[in-house]
Amino acid sequence: MIVPPGSTIGILGGGQLGRMLAIAAAQLGYKCHVLDPAEDGPAAQVAAGFTRAPYDDPAALRALADAVDVATYEFENLPVAPLEVLGEKLRPSARSLAIAQDRAREKAFIEECGGRVAPWRAVASFDDVLAAVAELGTPVVLKTRRYGYDGKGQAWIRSPDEAQAAWQAIGEEPAVAEAGVDFVAEFSVIVARWADGRHCFWDSAENKHGEGILRRSTVPSSDAVALQVAEAREAAVGIAEALGHIGVLTVEFFASRDGPVVNEIAPRVHNSGHWTIEGAVTSQFEQHIRAICDLPPGPTDLVGGGAVMDNLIGDDVDRWPELVAEPGLHVHIYGKGEPRPGRKMGHVTRVESAEPVRGTGEH
Ligand code: ADP
Ligand code: MG
Repeated sequence: MIVPPGSTIGILGGGQLGRMLAIAAAQLGYKCHVLDPAEDGPAAQVAAGFTRAPYDDPAALRALADAVDVATYEFENLPVAPLEVLGEKLRPSARSLAIAQDRAREKAFIEECGGRVAPWRAVASFDDVLAAVAELGTPVVLKTRRYGYDGKGQAWIRSPDEAQAAWQAIGEEPAVAEAGVDFVAEFSVIVARWADGRHCFWDSAENKHGEGILRRSTVPSSDAVALQVAEAREAAVGIAEALGHIGVLTVEFFASRDGPVVNEIAPRVHNSGHWTIEGAVTSQFEQHIRAICDLPPGPTDLVGGGAVMDNLIGDDVDRWPELVAEPGLHVHIYGKGEPRPGRKMGHVTRVESAEPVRGTGEH
């Protein structure tokens, strides 16, 4: 089903990912209609159409289904059942979403696909937590099954006496208990897949997190990561195939001493792929639009020698005057208003030159 330029793309979720998708879609001649419960969010500010409604509002979803030619999501924490009204128009499908939004289903699914995850247990009571700690040893991290992002909904248990505090810290909610991975580095594989199975990757970024939030993505990665990329890509594409995924899928990995371990999947464009806007021939955002509209894939090669992307978190964004004055720095500000601590307000990307910088001619 080719969705030609001039058509309207529905986007569920109104954050920065939706904003960058809408910008990429507009370049190709599409109109975007955003559905988001918040007024004046980052995506609504740049979209041709906007509906302010809860994600499970049946009338709003029905109207969206009628108004758009294809629909996608930029956010995992959507109730799945009400999306049925979008039918075949929803790309990726509701199944990708249902699996990715529940950490227990996600891990079981990755294992079924032959991917490796850290040893884990589903927990639903404090007794389950104690049993998991006894079986997995410490450190263990508790992660709520649903609604976690940017390290939220997580608590570490470094010794068994911390189990109670951790269980309380995550709100005594159904969770997974996951063995801490002593990783060498973190990286992600971003794959874009078409309905007919065609797919492509970008170079894998090495990702540095602080307090559970992505801080920096660097391409090319270190050798430690590069050696694990081929195996990781195989796992990622296996997951995409098994989901029948259409569009961009991101798989986050730990580079462990024993090879790549899947941390989590995101059925969407990802923060660790923001560098592709200026650092690759085709960005993850444009490629997602191409895949869901069934246009041909664009090349994913680097345009330069690599790229470094830094998030602007909280009041980092107040440094904008010096950032916009820095030659060659690509500054992205998401239009979120108040910078709260831990809130992703924007990002900056520097593309490395492919050639050694030409000398001045002086010797
Ligand atoms: P989120 O959905 O918030 O991104 P993640 O599961 O990716 O949640 O966790 C955020 C970060 O916390 C990871 O990128 C990693 O740095 C750290 N982390 C999470 N799980 C583990 C683990 N099992 N072992 C070591 N570090 C972990
Ligand atoms: Mg993560």
